[in-house]
Amino acid sequence: NRTPLIAGNWKLHNDHLQAIALVQKLAWTLQDARHDHAAVEVAVFPPFTDLRSVQTLVSAEKFELRFGAQDVSEHDSGAHTGEVAASMLAKLECSYAIVGHSERRQDHGESSALVGRKAAAAVRHGVTPIICVGETEADLEQHGASAVPVQQLREALAELPAAGEIVVAYEPVWAIGSGKAATAEQAQQVAHALRQTIAEVRGDEAAASTRILYGGSVKSGNIAGFMREPDVDGALVGGASLDAAEFAAIARFQ
Ligand code: 13P
Repeated sequence: NRTPLIAGNWKLHNDHLQAIALVQKLAWTLQDARHDHAAVEVAVFPPFTDLRSVQTLVSAEKFELRFGAQDVSEHDSGAHTGEVAASMLAKLECSYAIVGHSERRQDHGESSALVGRKAAAAVRHGVTPIICVGETEADLEQHGASAVPVQQLREALAELPAAGEIVVAYEPVWAIGSGKAATAEQAQQVAHALRQTIAEVRGDEAAASTRILYGGSVKSGNIAGFMREPDVDGALVGGASLDAAEFAAIARFQ
């Protein structure tokens, strides 16, 4: 039941008009390729301001594409200027919300505990959080590849109820936007350690059914190697998700 997930994080790219054009192009490209959405889930993560337009397009055209947000508030409502609540994302039919992306950890000082509370807010409203973890180059040299991501995941999971679907994304910071992807073996090693952590905290059944994605310089040319690894269930794609043909090619990783 770990359906592969190919997720496109657009980051700070595309206004709502550009979003409509890109989603249309992506959906048509996938349709032309007879993409089986039940076999490989494809999801896009546009900026908040695009979500309503993407929802309207996807539902009007009956596209099987999924979509989600790049962040979510830990709060359900109240005096929290600038925040977006999980219930609002749920109402927009967002399947997912990314939480704890390294760019938010860096730019906004987000701690793993906060990331966990954001994930909990998403779970409360039926939105599946994609919890991002990953080590910097300095972490890698000092502690090896898996210590920091495992610790980040442990701290986030401590804030979460035992039930509720989550997705975990392993994104080594040094691989993001660098063109220097991890090797498939490196990704597998850390994904395996993360799965063991899920087993310790949430039990074996949860560990066996939780999808773990790899992210960091994923392209159509290297996706197949990652997808062959037993603990890698998909990819979180940045730059390469901004091009419909390239992203569709990643979704056709076989
Ligand atoms: P790139 O694919 O551009 O390296 O970005 C990865 C990422 O951060 C996805 O969330």
